[in-house]
Amino acid sequence: MNAPTEHSLIAQIEARAASLEQKVIAWRRDFHAHPELGNRELRTSRIIAEHLQSLGLDDVRVGVAHTGVVGTLEGGKPGPCVGLRADMDALPVTEMADVSFASKARTDWAGQEVGTMHACGHDCHVAILMGVAELFAGMREHIHGSIKFIFQPAEEGLPDGEHGGAKMMIEEHALANPKVDAIFGLHVMSGLNAGQVGYRPGAMMASTDNFFIKVKGRQTHGAMPWLGADPIVASAQIIMGMQTLVSRQMDIMHEPAVVTIGSINGGVRENIIPDEVLMRGTYRTFDEEQREFLRERIADTATNIACACQTTADVHIVKGYPVTVNDPKLTLWSIPTLSRVAGDAGVVHVPKTGGGEDFSYFQKEIPGAFYFVGITPRDQDPAKAPANHSPYFYVDESGLLLGLRLLAHLVVDYQHKPAY
Ligand SMILES: [Zn+2]
Ligand SMILES: [Zn+2]
Repeated sequence: MNAPTEHSLIAQIEARAASLEQKVIAWRRDFHAHPELGNRELRTSRIIAEHLQSLGLDDVRVGVAHTGVVGTLEGGKPGPCVGLRADMDALPVTEMADVSFASKARTDWAGQEVGTMHACGHDCHVAILMGVAELFAGMREHIHGSIKFIFQPAEEGLPDGEHGGAKMMIEEHALANPKVDAIFGLHVMSGLNAGQVGYRPGAMMASTDNFFIKVKGRQTHGAMPWLGADPIVASAQIIMGMQTLVSRQMDIMHEPAVVTIGSINGGVRENIIPDEVLMRGTYRTFDEEQREFLRERIADTATNIACACQTTADVHIVKGYPVTVNDPKLTLWSIPTLSRVAGDAGVVHVPKTGGGEDFSYFQKEIPGAFYFVGITPRDQDPAKAPANHSPYFYVDESGLLLGLRLLAHLVVDYQHKPAY
């Protein structure tokens, strides 16, 4: 595109974004006061769908992967299809943040009554993407290609036995008709100040697999351990063995990794060696080969150490999200866009984070880039701010406009000068 057109298009986007800022904040507060857990985002989903329909989008699909909504806006000129994704779900956290629209919601999670809060900021993601849809719906003659607005349920995990999230959105063709050529997503982050945007080419967020180990021994008197088989001593050795996987068997100069046992239960009193011990843990990696290595070695280490202790270990691994890998070419392509939106000083090359994101499933299908948007007040040290998932998680709403502008600029830049 030639420079004058680009200039006027950018100016138009900037003006429309600024005029939508208060609307985005109002939507965000409403969603914040009415949080819903994964696969239960009924109210959220209804409001999104009504908004997209009121904008006259060409296609609005509801009920995708349970409560997901996918809207498509066809531009006036031919070009690529850019996907934008927002996750919609809240967390089983009781809000402690001091805001007038704090959540008072309570609901049932895994059989327990819990408070519910948008403690990860997905309320912001939904409000921002609704804003982007409105921004472009009013200027479709200037759009070169199409835009797909993907509102995804259940990023934070699923109720027991249910299916959902990004993986199910893809299975239900969220990336098809029209086929999405590249996808962008963002996450508000306490670790950055309002006005900052974080990027990282390559691995950004970890794979998140969990494991469950049952060590079976043979119950006996605590004074005569030789008459049975002690699963507690076996478990102690298994834990120490697992802690050498990363430190002795993996090339941590390539990528870091973590193995954690977060729960251990066995026995009822001091003089009885119990029959069994249950352990639960998680492992995080930034490389799919290392992920596979740990999956195998955790099982082998537990079963072989258990065998050496005359016990047995049943190892059950529950796969979580793949590594969130930002397409390097697309991410590097986007840096000038980030600089235009946040200024050079506002663009931060962020470190990896051990949390996971199911945006990774979209990135396995098509080139995708994920960004962090700062929401900690500018006069506060983000390292000391309550983190995402804290009951005190706080969003400085002056940071939301940057999220809206970021997605809008990425769309027009991609459509005028695609990375691929
Ligand atoms: Zn989260
Ligand atoms: Zn999140």
